[in-house]
Amino acid sequence: MGRPTVRDDLRALEGYHSPQLDVTVRLNTNEAPAAPPAAFSAAVAAAAESIEWHRYPDRGATELRRRIAELHGLDASQVFVANGSNEVIQTVLLTFAGPGRTVATFEPTYALHQHITRLVGATGVEGRRNDDFTLDADEIRRVVAEAAPAVTFLCSPNNPTGMVDAPELVDAALEAVDAVGGLLVVDEAYGQFNPTSAIDRIGDDVPLVVSRTYSKTWAMAGARLGYLLGPAWLIAELDKVVLPYHLDAMKQAAGLAALDFVDDMDERVASIVAERDRVSAAMAELGCHVWPSGSNFVLFRPPNGDGGAVWQGLVDRSILVRNTASWPGLDGCLRVTIGTPDDNTAFLSALAATLDALADSSTPS
Ligand SMILES: *Cc1c(COP(=O)(O)O)cnc(C)c1O
Repeated sequence: MGRPTVRDDLRALEGYHSPQLDVTVRLNTNEAPAAPPAAFSAAVAAAAESIEWHRYPDRGATELRRRIAELHGLDASQVFVANGSNEVIQTVLLTFAGPGRTVATFEPTYALHQHITRLVGATGVEGRRNDDFTLDADEIRRVVAEAAPAVTFLCSPNNPTGMVDAPELVDAALEAVDAVGGLLVVDEAYGQFNPTSAIDRIGDDVPLVVSRTYSKTWAMAGARLGYLLGPAWLIAELDKVVLPYHLDAMKQAAGLAALDFVDDMDERVASIVAERDRVSAAMAELGCHVWPSGSNFVLFRPPNGDGGAVWQGLVDRSILVRNTASWPGLDGCLRVTIGTPDDNTAFLSALAATLDALADSSTPS
């Protein structure tokens, strides 16, 4: 007996890793720091009582799409819903990319865009952000004109840098993408933190889709729910590609229930922003280089430039942040998610203690 051979183009692929460790304070995956309100859990429990478990769910997720459309001032036919925005991205790439087609990203950015590109057999091309992680319209034009990608990704606010793309940049990207007959995907997983959105630009003859998720600001990473907004004709194409009944009844109910708690979400965003500014200022005080963030996480480089050692020092103090120190373009950097005020205070004192300990050990005695 033998082992069947994995697809040639996947054999060398590394899986997507976001290491979890058993620590007290987890600030590594950009989740919301606290659970949704108790009234939300009660509403979901009540909805569970009336689910017809022996029947397939509403295949079109009709009510959920209608309510999401309402939230954004669009029509239900302009909404596609899936198991997290990762499944949204996968469906977009299965529909518009695939073998023989190209997908463009601007690095450093969300790793899943290139990862899923490879999974669907498409070819990735990578443009670059500047050293300060801003992105130039000229770089977008260059990459799009050279590669004529079927799909081009922007991510605003960008993970892992926290940078927000100005509306003019989105317009420049749209123009470039349209000129090669491509599609622009703007990943707005952290869109609630940003007063501007590419959603304003959506229209039947605009090659633009915008993805959002319940995983971050909605405090529902456990539910695996995300959605995409775009032209109705394009959403209809995605509906042909996604597996039938992919969105289970429980998840549809949870997604609906959440939409009754928009005010709580808005409050959460405001308190995270206040904490983010406190944490950023304190890290700068400690001598870290801190990049401005329009999101619920902050990218920073410790004063000694040794993100790996600082990450380990934080883990030793039971704090987990994302170790991005060896990612291309992120030399020595770490990314910390904004947690509860107590989490953040614990992080800041562990960071101070770690930097002290590392400075002592490097001082010749
Ligand atoms: C966290 C994140 C997502 C979320 O993916 P889900 O599958 O919805 O949990 C998508 N895009 C970016 C840029 C993210 O940071």
